Amino acid sequence: MSLHIPFDNSYARLPEGFYTKLAAAPVREPRLIAFNQPLAELMGITGADEESLTQLFSGNQTLEGSEPLAQLYAGHQFGHYNPQLGDGRALLLGETVGQDGQRRDIQLKGSGPTPYSRNGDGRSWLGPVLREYIVSEAMHALGIPTTRALAAVTTGEPVLREQLYPGGILTRVAKSHIRVGSFQVFSARRDETALKTLLEYTISRHYPEADGPLGLLKAVIEAQSRLIPQWMGVGFIHGVMNTDNCQIAGETIDYGPCAFMDSYHPQKVFSSIDQFGRYAYGNQPDIIVWNMAQLATALVPLMPDQDEAIDLFTQAVHAMPTLLQANWLKVFAAKIGISDPEPDDEALIKDLLSRMEEGQADFTNTFAALGSPSARDQFLNPERFDEWHQDWAQRIKGLPDVEATLHSANPLLIPRNHRIEEMIQAAVGGDYAPFHRLLEAYKSPFSTMPQNEDLRRPPSEQEMVKATFCGT
Ligand code: AMP
Ligand code: MG
Repeated sequence: MSLHIPFDNSYARLPEGFYTKLAAAPVREPRLIAFNQPLAELMGITGADEESLTQLFSGNQTLEGSEPLAQLYAGHQFGHYNPQLGDGRALLLGETVGQDGQRRDIQLKGSGPTPYSRNGDGRSWLGPVLREYIVSEAMHALGIPTTRALAAVTTGEPVLREQLYPGGILTRVAKSHIRVGSFQVFSARRDETALKTLLEYTISRHYPEADGPLGLLKAVIEAQSRLIPQWMGVGFIHGVMNTDNCQIAGETIDYGPCAFMDSYHPQKVFSSIDQFGRYAYGNQPDIIVWNMAQLATALVPLMPDQDEAIDLFTQAVHAMPTLLQANWLKVFAAKIGISDPEPDDEALIKDLLSRMEEGQADFTNTFAALGSPSARDQFLNPERFDEWHQDWAQRIKGLPDVEATLHSANPLLIPRNHRIEEMIQAAVGGDYAPFHRLLEAYKSPFSTMPQNEDLRRPPSEQEMVKATFCGT
């Protein structure tokens, strides 16, 4: 049986101004690195043999039913509006509706230049491909809404960045690739017809119960208010929360210079291009509100009464910090074993966090050790933890399910930066064993095998990754 994907494309039915249809630029000598069989099955992909997968995921062959296209969008990058971005190195191959009824995009990333490439080469090197593969699948295993990785290939062609690197292509799967920037582009051009078409399409695809522009705005605000506290709960720093990297369906998207913190610091930044710390760990809840304000602004022209729209949208955006805070409390209370938080718990959690900052405690390992005597060992000054521990012991005395709550809210394994870097180095040298090892290990982040104990260790001074880079 040959490879079959039950394509059921809807974005390609939208008007022409939404995208540019084009085929991927072929590559010289593609080889398959990874294929996500369980995800493929869920999506209804059958008859997968290595040769046809390699041809498909390298862009060398277009399958029947696929209608490759580069999507148009705009976005605020580091607060500055860029009127035209779009898929500069990606192509949407099409969509499937899976066994679970979920419609999903299949997108190649690194598939060659498009009309939206600007000065870029449309390609990606192996590092960012493997990084996104590992980190997005790890996020999924952590229970955090995210795009997924379906496949990765090497292209057999070099890509020039600071030096020559092996080229790669990631196949990404998402509920859709509609971003805040997808609305911004039509709104800024005052193309109300296109804006209305996109609104209707988005509502029917993602939020069928939402009523009009305000309903959509509120639904996205709710989804993002759930997502960001989940990032915070695992020490995740997205790194480029530009409005073009902010997805309407509420999944984590665009794993560029993202990173997980080792030792806790609220202002931690890894991205080499984030000079002023706009997207620092602790700023993420503020930035998402800012991004939702941009979405609101983009939607205003669709409302019959502009003044009333501005009032209603402002209220919706102003309600967001409270939503974020409530979800943050729920996430972090669970991390200290409390499944049903009370308002006072916020102070208890913040007290722990400030002691963690002062004691340079490892974020993941401190929470994972809370129920055991070794938690204090995470702190440079353990007696500061002991003081907190007394208050905590008082609070959880007699509470049901503390152990179980701690266990389910505190992963043992997160993709630490030094492990990712080490894995990329090995792959560039032709050794994919670390990639496959990490991929397997991060599938079960809440329980480790003895052979994965070393993955829990924070980096040594020499291993410490100080900066991360965009894939571009
Ligand atoms: P990012 O924030 O990394 O998602 O990228 C922002 C914009 O730059 C998007 O429009 C990308 O398609 C585009 N871009 C990034 N890298 C490249 C590349 N190598 N070639 C062409 N366009 C790129
Ligand atoms: Mg992007």
